[in-house]
Amino acid sequence: MKSRKFLIAGNWKMNKTAADGVSLVKDIVAAVGPQTEVDVVVCPPFTALESVSKALEGSAIKLGAQNMHPKASGAYTGEVSAEMLRGHFTTHVILGHSERRQYFGETDAFINEKVVTALKNLLKPILCIGETLAEREAGRTLEVVKTQLEGGLAGVSATDATSVVLAYEPVWAIGTGKVATTEQAQEVHAFIRGWLATRFDKTVAGKMRILYGGSMKPSNAPELLRQEDIDGGLIGGASLEAQSFIDLVQAAKAAS
Ligand code: PEP
Repeated sequence: MKSRKFLIAGNWKMNKTAADGVSLVKDIVAAVGPQTEVDVVVCPPFTALESVSKALEGSAIKLGAQNMHPKASGAYTGEVSAEMLRGHFTTHVILGHSERRQYFGETDAFINEKVVTALKNLLKPILCIGETLAEREAGRTLEVVKTQLEGGLAGVSATDATSVVLAYEPVWAIGTGKVATTEQAQEVHAFIRGWLATRFDKTVAGKMRILYGGSMKPSNAPELLRQEDIDGGLIGGASLEAQSFIDLVQAAKAAS
């Protein structure tokens, strides 16, 4: 029996038009929409937020965005604010995804601004952290994760921290089909929980959810979800097809 409720979040990345998103979500809602044993979040692209939000109405599934700008408004061409996301009934926002760090040069300091803004606007950040293959091979995994935690959560109070979801995503496992072994994942998750206990306190650390992300799919989810400090998954590829995402929610239900 897990003390924390599992969370399964789907990161659609730059996939699905609004119409495709509605069709995907309709199947997910039909299968797991009413259940509340597992928290479920779908994160479509901005352009599908409104239609997907309508398709989720009446279900327990929550809506997340994949990014957000830290400022409230202004001359930031192409960007979207927390208030705009809230206007579409968004409750969660993925921040600091490794693709944003890698392709868009996002730093821990910039990601931290977003985390703080999200919390002020009552959006729950899903803060992504994780090492590259080179960093793992150099034995720097825990050091990298610690730096990202320190940077990303700077200035966040213990009360606000319980609204933050962390996602440990080894960069070398994202979209590659290479999943971290359960031992590798649990080692880092336990390290993160220990760091949270020092940074906040044990109670806060015990409440915060730490998701695993990186080629998680129905076949490897049960073993990962059995690990003490793995509280769910941030799912890329397997969230784009209704049946695999539904199976992941069912796997979390079975592991609860
Ligand atoms: C992700 O992008 O957060 C992710 C985990 O992707 P995938 O499941 O495809 O590895």
